[in-house]
Amino acid sequence: IKYDGPGDELARLAETINAMLERLNFAYQKLDQSYRSQKRFLADASHELRTPLTIIRGNIELLQQMGDAEPEIRTEALADISEESRRMSWLVEDLLSLARADAGQKMSEELVSLRELLADVIHRAEKLAGPVNLEATNIFVSEDNYVYGNKEYLAKLILILLDNAFKYTEPGGSVLLKTELADKEACIAVIDTGTGIAEENLEQIFERFYRIDQSRGSRGTGLGLSIARWIAEQHDARIEVKSTLGQGSEFTVRLPLHENIKN
Ligand code: ADP
Repeated sequence: IKYDGPGDELARLAETINAMLERLNFAYQKLDQSYRSQKRFLADASHELRTPLTIIRGNIELLQQMGDAEPEIRTEALADISEESRRMSWLVEDLLSLARADAGQKMSEELVSLRELLADVIHRAEKLAGPVNLEATNIFVSEDNYVYGNKEYLAKLILILLDNAFKYTEPGGSVLLKTELADKEACIAVIDTGTGIAEENLEQIFERFYRIDQSRGSRGTGLGLSIARWIAEQHDARIEVKSTLGQGSEFTVRLPLHENIKN
C-alpha cells in the first residue's frame, strides 16, 4: 500500500498494514515450505512402501502359479516374502518415530545412568553385529555419570549408529564403541572400518530417505540418521561425523552431562 495523502494517522495505518502483509507473506512461505516437505515425505514414504509390496505380490503370484511343482522356487519366494515384510516393518516403525517427531511429541525424561544405558546398548548391539567384530569400552563402569533424557530413545540413537557401522562394514571388519568424558559432556563414538562416506555426502546422509547409491542393496530405510538427529536435538546433543572413503567412519554423539549428580 502506498499513501501520499495528508494526515499522519493514515500514513501510520498504511505502514502497519504493510508490516502485517509482510508478516503474512512470511508465514505463508513457511507454511508452503512445510506443506511441500510433508508432501515430499508422503510421496517418498509411499514409494518406499510400494517397493517391498510389489516384490511380495510378485512372489505370491509366482507361488500360486508354480509353487507346488518347483520346491526351489517355493523356498526362494518364501524367503523373499519374509525379507520384504521385515523391511516393511522396519520402515513402518521408522515412519512412526518420525511422525511422532513431526507432531512435536515430547518424550518423557528422567535421570539416565550412562553405566546402565551403555550396558544395555552393548548387550543389544552384540546381537546385531553379525559377521562384524564389536569392541566396546564403557568407561562409566568404574565411575557412573548421568544425563537427563529418555533412556529408550538414547539407546535407539546409539544403536542406529552401531547398526549402520555393522551394515556398511565388510564381514571380518571391526566396529569400536568408545566412550569418553570431556568438558561436561559424554562422548560416545562409533568407529568403523567400513566403506566410508565421501565428503560431499556428509550433510545429506542426515536427510530423510537419503541413501548413498552403493547402500541401496543393503537393509535399511534411509531414515535411521534422520531419527538419530531428531533424538540428539531433543537431548541438546550433537552428532559429529568424520569419514574417509574406503577406510571407515566415526560418528560421535556429544551428550551434555547432568551436572548435579555424580556418583
Ligand atoms: P540407512 O537405513 O540407509 O542406513 P541412514 O539414514 O541410517 O539410512 O543412513 C543414510 C545413508 O548414510 C546410508 O544409506 C549410507 O549410505 C550412509 N551411512 C550411514 N552410516 C554409515 C557408515 N557407518 N558407513 C558408511 N555409510 C554410512
